[in-house]
This record gives sequence, structure tokens and C-alpha cells, in this order.
Amino acid sequence: IFITFEGPDGAGKTTIINMVTEQLENVLLTREPGGIDIAEQIRRVILARENTAMDPRTEALLYAAARRQHLMEKVKPALEEGIVVLCDRFVDSSLAYQGHARGLGIDEVLKINQFAIEDMMPDLTIYFDIEPELGLKRINKNKGREVNRLDLENLDFHHKVREGYAILMERFPNRIVKIDASDTLEKVFEKTIKLVIEKIEQ
Ligand code: C5P
Ligand code: MG
Repeated sequence: IFITFEGPDGAGKTTIINMVTEQLENVLLTREPGGIDIAEQIRRVILARENTAMDPRTEALLYAAARRQHLMEKVKPALEEGIVVLCDRFVDSSLAYQGHARGLGIDEVLKINQFAIEDMMPDLTIYFDIEPELGLKRINKNKGREVNRLDLENLDFHHKVREGYAILMERFPNRIVKIDASDTLEKVFEKTIKLVIEKIEQ
């Protein structure tokens, strides 16, 4: 079973997924872009603060390339062994960020990602929804967080990302489930673990 977690920066994805993973057995936690050496190298190129000249299509292709390598090296083998894979971000991030917010078009970005992932779509995607203003506030409070090129984007960009996720919710209503991430950490955690367990036991 392949479960992915989505949402804007500052929604609390990483914190919640770590909590969920601690509660479960036979679960592999991983993240995108990254998760394995080659993909972590690509992540550094994408997110480096000095790479402001990066063209949006280059960015989208790099994400798709990192995604492919991570799938083949780590996710697919684990799924084949019957391990539940939890992934911090996946294809919907590309569709919301590069497809919608950067304006490349959700369908265009979906096309290159279909090439990259073939039929390996998630069984469930949990989307943490939050007002960009609140998300950014949380990011600024989290001093341990790594600073990246995306931190230079303005509020308008983050509103577009959220709009992108809203479009994806309509497009993939059977796969994506939304959780209100402005709630307390405990409440968000409880809702998340319930959804994950339901999916595993289904
Ligand atoms: O969630 P994580 O911290 O791993 O994401 C790293 C950065 O990359 C974030 O600022 C996120 O907004 C950005 N990102 C992006 N497009 C994607 C995936 C992540 O702009 N497809
Ligand atoms: Mg995170």
C-alpha cells in the first residue's frame, strides 16, 4: 500500500508523518524530492538558493527525474515486499507547484510524470490543507527547518499552490482526502492515523 502526504509548506506534514510512522509496524517512511542518494542530489540542485535562473520546465523535469529514481530504487521494491510506504510529497506536489502555481499546466506536468511513474499512483493521498498565511507563520517559527529557494516565493505563489491542490481534489476525489491542518497537532494526528489504518486494513 502506497500512501502519500501533500500540502503546502508549514502544514505540518513532516511532523505528523513522523508521528504516524512511530505508531505503526512494517512501514517505510520516505520523502520527495529525495529519499535515496541520486534523488537527494537532484533535490539539492532544485532547491539551491543560488539556482534562481532555473526554468520552470527544467524544474518540473528534475522533480520527475528524482521521482522516477526514488520509485525504482526504494518505493517499488518495498511495495513488492508488502511494506506500507508513506511518502512525504509525491506527484501531486508537482501538479500543484509546477503545474498550477508556476503555470505550466496540470495536464502538461501530469504527462511527464506519467512517463516517470508509469502506473505507480498512490492508493491514498492525504492532503493537509491550511491557509498560506498560517503555514508561513509556522515555517518562520520552525528554526530548525532548512532554508531553500522556494522560501523566496511570495504569498501569492502559496495561494496558487493551495488553489492547485483544490483543483486536484476535484479531479481525483477517490484518491485524495483532505484534512484541516490548522487544527491542533493532536487532532490532525488522530485524523491522519485513522485514515492510514483504515487504508491498511481495507
Ligand atoms: O516538503 P519539503 O520541505 O521537502 O519541500 C521542499 C521545498 O520544495 C518546499 O519549499 C516545497 O514548497 C518545494 N517543492 C516544490 N515543488 C514540488 C515539491 C516541493 O516547489 N513539486
Ligand atoms: Mg516538510
